[in-house]
Amino acid sequence: MQRIYDDPQVGNVVVRKRAGVRRVSIRVSRSKGVSVTLPFMVSYDEAIRFYLSKREWVLKTMERHKEMAPDKTLSAQELEQLRRQAAEYLPHRLACLAQVYGFQYSALRLKHNRTNWGSCSSRNNINLNISLMSLPSVLRDYVMLHELCHLRHHDHSRAFHLLLEHLLTDHLLKLTDSAQSVASEKELASKIVRAAATSKARFPLDHVCSSLIRRYRP
Ligand SMILES: [Zn+2]
Repeated sequence: MQRIYDDPQVGNVVVRKRAGVRRVSIRVSRSKGVSVTLPFMVSYDEAIRFYLSKREWVLKTMERHKEMAPDKTLSAQELEQLRRQAAEYLPHRLACLAQVYGFQYSALRLKHNRTNWGSCSSRNNINLNISLMSLPSVLRDYVMLHELCHLRHHDHSRAFHLLLEHLLTDHLLKLTDSAQSVASEKELASKIVRAAATSKARFPLDHVCSSLIRRYRP
């Protein structure tokens, strides 16, 4: 149930009806573009009027995204370096997190794409993007914990989010407490915990981490 609104400056805006939502909302994503979600009760025209009333904000947000993460292509040498760093770090880190939280995955593959930071297949293979190496380590862990939780719940159900939120609570606490954490890591972890404490989101830690990660692109 969706319509496309063609905005001359923004491009195709996907206007989508969805069960369970209470109000019209707009999302601006670097990878997926702009989308409007609306409850079944609201007409498409009404949702598009709402979108047009917020259009300035959409344009500003898109502009900000561009400034934050310039779309830069890596040279072959930079790519090779990223691959090497990823191969040294990610398999070990994922194995550690899996061990701490009692997960077992079949295999890990390192990928390089522009669409996601990680994924988990129905056969319990985990894929991680080598661009994770350009993120702060706290956010890298966040992505890995997300994929590990998919080993138990292959969806984004409530059960999945409850598990992830539970692991994030534990993990971020460890990072803020541990003497081994580097200062910048500690600082970011406690910043996330503080922001989550005042957030009204259903899964506050996940919410804060996912908004932080949107500042980067794979
Ligand atoms: Zn997921």
